[in-house]
Formats: sequence, C-alpha cells, structure tokens
Amino acid sequence: MSGMVELRDVHKSFGSLRVLRGVDLTVPRGHVTVLLGPSGSGKSTLLRTINHLEKVDRGSVRVDGQLLGYRRAGDRLYELRERDVLRQRTQIGFVFQSFNLFPHLTVSQNVAEAPLSAQRRPRTEVEPLVGRLLDRVGLADKAAAYPRTLSGGQQQRVAIARALALEPKVLLFDEPTSALDPELVGEVLDVIKDLARSGTTMIVVTHEIGFAREVADTVAFMDAGRIVEIGPPAQILDDPAHERTRAFIGKVL
Ligand code: ADP
Ligand code: MG
Repeated sequence: MSGMVELRDVHKSFGSLRVLRGVDLTVPRGHVTVLLGPSGSGKSTLLRTINHLEKVDRGSVRVDGQLLGYRRAGDRLYELRERDVLRQRTQIGFVFQSFNLFPHLTVSQNVAEAPLSAQRRPRTEVEPLVGRLLDRVGLADKAAAYPRTLSGGQQQRVAIARALALEPKVLLFDEPTSALDPELVGEVLDVIKDLARSGTTMIVVTHEIGFAREVADTVAFMDAGRIVEIGPPAQILDDPAHERTRAFIGKVL
C-alpha cells in the first residue's frame, strides 16, 4: 500500500553526529502513527524532515506521492526554490511542544493568519473556517482572547486549530502535551483523538502510552536514529521483540 507519508532510507547528520541512520516509514492515508523513543534518538529531527525544516542527506521523503524538495520534469529531478518549498510545507501541519502562538494576535487572528497571508484566501472564506476550527477544538468562546490569557491546554488547542487551518494532508505533533500541567493533558489528547476518528493522517511523538494504545494504528519505536521496531500498539507495547523497546516502555509506563 502506498502511504500518505513515505520515508525511504532517510539519513541526516549534524556535522559528525549521525542523527537519522536509514529510516523507512510508511504512514497510510488516515492512519495514526505514534513515535516513541528515548530523548536524543532523532524523533524531532525525523518530524522536521517531513516538514522540510531539515533537508535529508540521503534517501527520500514523499507526502501524498510528492517528493519533498524536488520537482520532476521528465525523468530528471530539480531542486525546488525556497518559495516552492514553502508551498509544499503548507500541506504539512506541525504542532510543537511549546505552542508558539503569535502573542500580539487574538485566538481567531492566530488561526486566520496562514490562510490569509500564505494562501491569500479571501477573508469571507477564512472567517467561517476559523469559526468551524475553533468550534472543533472547543474554543469558540475564546475567539477574541489573547494567548496569554489562556491556559496551556487552551493554547495548545489553538495551535492545533491553526495547524488545521491550511487543511494539511498530514499533521505532525512533537510532544504536544509535554509542556502541560498534568490536569491539562487530557483536553489536548481528546482533540487529537477526535481528529484521529475523523480520518486525519497523523504522526505523534509522545510518551503518553495510554494514548498510543487507544489511538495509534501503528507504534514505532526509535533508538539511535533508526526505527528498531514497528507494529500494532498491542504488539509493540505489550510484547516488544527488542530489549531496548522493553526497557524504554518499562520506564515511561
Ligand atoms: P529527540 O527528539 O528524539 O529527543 P532530536 O531529533 O531532537 O531527538 O535530536 C537528536 C540528536 O540530534 C540530539 O543529539 C540533538 O542534540 C541533535 N540535534 C538536533 N538538531 C540539531 C541541530 N540543528 N544541530 C546539531 N545537532 C542537532
Ligand atoms: Mg524531540
């Protein structure tokens, strides 16, 4: 089966530090993959290659069949210019650990920003979209509020609405609940669960094992720049084949 996201033999180094050492990953359309692994194993770097924030040294990244960073003409590949890279990037939503909202914009302005300025969609079209998205993340009543007046959980839900505003083909989450007080984790995971149920293709880096068990179609365990084990949640979480996976899951449970 061809995937919405396909990585083939992806390598990435920073100087002499080999951070990704040959990653293969296929995420089928509408599936949720949870990526687990110890700190420093390369999870964030892997997500960043899919969003084109990092250029790979070797291998390929495809989103919906399109090779990131390149354009095909006949049987030749040309590297894309920055402007076209930015256009490709709008197809991939990214939600960070630290919400990164624009502090000087209201909630609805935060969500409207990318469709208005990057996509140049008309305000008459963007306003109802923003309304629907805020409704979806349960923040319709906060449209006019500024980020600093919101809880961390609310800010992260705005960040999710903002990522959805470009109607991306895939959503990437990098530890979306790690910066939250424990009592606020649930409301953010609930929004991600709702997206999963509606068929959004997602890759979620998280240490929330309960969430992985409930929501993931696939769990991948990463260590030292490689995916060492991948499969259905029950297999990876309850019956891991590798000692390193077992040790990691033992620690985060
Ligand atoms: P994880 O998200 O699994 O904790 P990262 O992908 O953030 O891992 O980092 C993997 C390794 O790559 C770490 O050793 C980190 O210090 C290093 N690294 C990440 N980004 C850079 C960068 N831009 N320059 C140099 N080293 C980096
Ligand atoms: Mg990380």
